Amino acid sequence: MERTTHTNLKETTMPRMTKAEKAKIAAERQARNERECAIVRGGNCPQCGAGIRRNLALTGWFQCQQYGAVGFRKDSTKPSCSWQTFIE
Ligand SMILES: [Zn+2]
Repeated sequence: MERTTHTNLKETTMPRMTKAEKAKIAAERQARNERECAIVRGGNCPQCGAGIRRNLALTGWFQCQQYGAVGFRKDSTKPSCSWQTFIE
C-alpha cells in the first residue's frame, strides 16, 4: 500500500519592509511609548482624570483606577473608565 503524504504547508511570505519603513514604525512605536510613559508619570487618567494604577498581572500594564466593574474600581460611585495602556 502506497502512502502519499500531502503536505499543505503554504509558504508564509512576510511583507518585506524597507529600512525606512522599519525605522518609521520603530519611531512611531517609541513616540507612542513616550506619550504613554508621560501619562503614567503624570498619574492621571487622560480620559476621566482619576488616578492610574499598575496592574501587576503583566509588566508595564497600567489602568485607570476606575477601570472595571463595581468592587474593582477605586470609587464605585463614579462611572467606570476603560483607559489602560502598556508601556515598555
Ligand atoms: Zn479613567
